Amino acid sequence: MQCLMLGSGSGGNAFIVKSDSIMILIDAGLSAAQIHKRMSMRGLSADDITACFITHEHGDHVRGASMLSLRHKVPIYMHPATKQKTSKLWRGNETIHFLEIGDSYEFSDITITSIPTSHDSESSMGFLFKNSRYQLGYLTDLGSVSEDTFLAMKDVDFIVMEANHDKEMLLNGPYPMHLKRRVDSRVGHLSNSDSGEFLNLLVELGKLKGAILAHLSEKNNTPEKALETVLSKLKTKIPVMVASQHEPSEIIEMEKL
Ligand SMILES: [Zn+2]
Ligand SMILES: [Zn+2]
Repeated sequence: MQCLMLGSGSGGNAFIVKSDSIMILIDAGLSAAQIHKRMSMRGLSADDITACFITHEHGDHVRGASMLSLRHKVPIYMHPATKQKTSKLWRGNETIHFLEIGDSYEFSDITITSIPTSHDSESSMGFLFKNSRYQLGYLTDLGSVSEDTFLAMKDVDFIVMEANHDKEMLLNGPYPMHLKRRVDSRVGHLSNSDSGEFLNLLVELGKLKGAILAHLSEKNNTPEKALETVLSKLKTKIPVMVASQHEPSEIIEMEKL
């Protein structure tokens, strides 16, 4: 199993999990052209995406999905409420499948399961990928980690984990008060320190071998702060990367963690 972060943040999210036989895209919040371009920078093509799963209705997760489906023949999987809330984005001839939270799908050697997340949108979800050897989690856009979310993620080998903001930067930053409250709430976004505490819990359980910090706020965080805060929470060190909004990551191989 391999993964690749194409971009992450409020400017658009897109993440790939692949094996030799299939390729799954999580979120199409970048334009279809950007998704294809960033994939080709790593020797991949959007024409080879097996399926695209959408986490929730916010534009930074779904903006490019219609064009991606039409131009590259990619089937889109999402919750019915997500489609309803984004009805203006769809032209009508995309291939769309509906899924419920908790549903699992098998694509060749990888099973993907949707996981509930606590966020201010209807039926928002994260995802868990499994093959015979590895588990990989994807968790962004959540204000808190519920017990169900934790239980689903407790055995992951690798995780994409939101580290959205530094609490002090958020409180003293440029956002209006209502937005500060929203981001900081239990259905907003996770802070660096909450993210670090959750990752430490997974490390203590003994399986987590690596993480990508994702969905960093460009106003209320810096990559250095996110990394420093998260690493300070980890009692056992593991490799931690920070996702960029603008550049794709290298391809990460689970076997090499
Ligand atoms: Zn988002
Ligand atoms: Zn969101």
